[in-house]
Amino acid sequence: MDVTLFALGGTISMTGHDGGGVVSRLGGADLVAAVPGLAGTGVSLDVRDPRAVPSANLTFGQVLDVLDDAAAAVAGGAHGVVVTQGTDTLEETAFLADLVWPHAQPLVFTGAMRNPTLPGADGPANLLAAVRVAADRTARDLGALVAFKNEIHAARWVAKSHSSSTATFVSPNLGPVGHVVEGRVRLLVGLPRHAPLPRPAAEGLAANRVALHTVSLDDDGTGLAGLADSHQGLVVAGFGVGHVPADLAPVLGELAGRIPVVLTSRSGAGSVFTDTYGAVGSERDLMRRGLIGGGLLRSYQARVLLRTLLAGGADADRIRAVFADRS
Ligand code: ASP
Repeated sequence: MDVTLFALGGTISMTGHDGGGVVSRLGGADLVAAVPGLAGTGVSLDVRDPRAVPSANLTFGQVLDVLDDAAAAVAGGAHGVVVTQGTDTLEETAFLADLVWPHAQPLVFTGAMRNPTLPGADGPANLLAAVRVAADRTARDLGALVAFKNEIHAARWVAKSHSSSTATFVSPNLGPVGHVVEGRVRLLVGLPRHAPLPRPAAEGLAANRVALHTVSLDDDGTGLAGLADSHQGLVVAGFGVGHVPADLAPVLGELAGRIPVVLTSRSGAGSVFTDTYGAVGSERDLMRRGLIGGGLLRSYQARVLLRTLLAGGADADRIRAVFADRS
């Protein structure tokens, strides 16, 4: 089995330097060399080092460039792909990858919470699990996956839930879709796949900014003034099932007349509603004012989806249809 590994930096690759603190210093070959047992898997790894950055610095364009190279790798015969990166933005990059990855070959993201200088560094175990999943035939046709702590999560559902725990990745609405048990990949559920979205071009990304606004107590929307002049879309993370203060509702309605505005929940799990509550600022009111329901999508995912659609040239009807289909 051949697996291509793309190393993008993050804590998994960070060690100390003279200026103090840890920074990305290890390349893909170093990460591989630190994994006991990798040779015994029989997987042959082709290692690439596109960049080594904290994942806060990654951009949509950089991730899509890596996916282009990953597509070339599978076209050249790779049975799967592993991407190592920082965990901070991993749920967004893996979700973006899942939206546009059309291939059957597994595309598996992983990283680490403890850097290699710490006792109990988790990078080697996570990398070994990710390689096993990428090389496993049963992981084909599942889109992008996240392998962490011997759990396998679907990129569609995964979330970083803790700032420092090695058990940070969870899928609040589902749970893990599988496990790596004694080195064996055990998938527990099938995953329905949607038709892949077109890979947005750099010009489309540059021309389409999507803001994310988290609603909080007594929010009157002053911070949203002028947003439609600088952004092409907005995701709102509302209270509970999709509620906002009454004063904010007309502000959002006005914005929805100019740009797509997607309603999600700031709760982190569960769906926004569309047709239950009747007060001003409730989900029914916001739907009536033209907002798009984000369903079960987390706000970060909704933002990735909306920007991907806008950058790919989708019009308002198409955006509404895709959200209806995927949320
Ligand atoms: N700040 C780091 C990053 O995302 C955290 C990590 O890798 O876990 O690059």
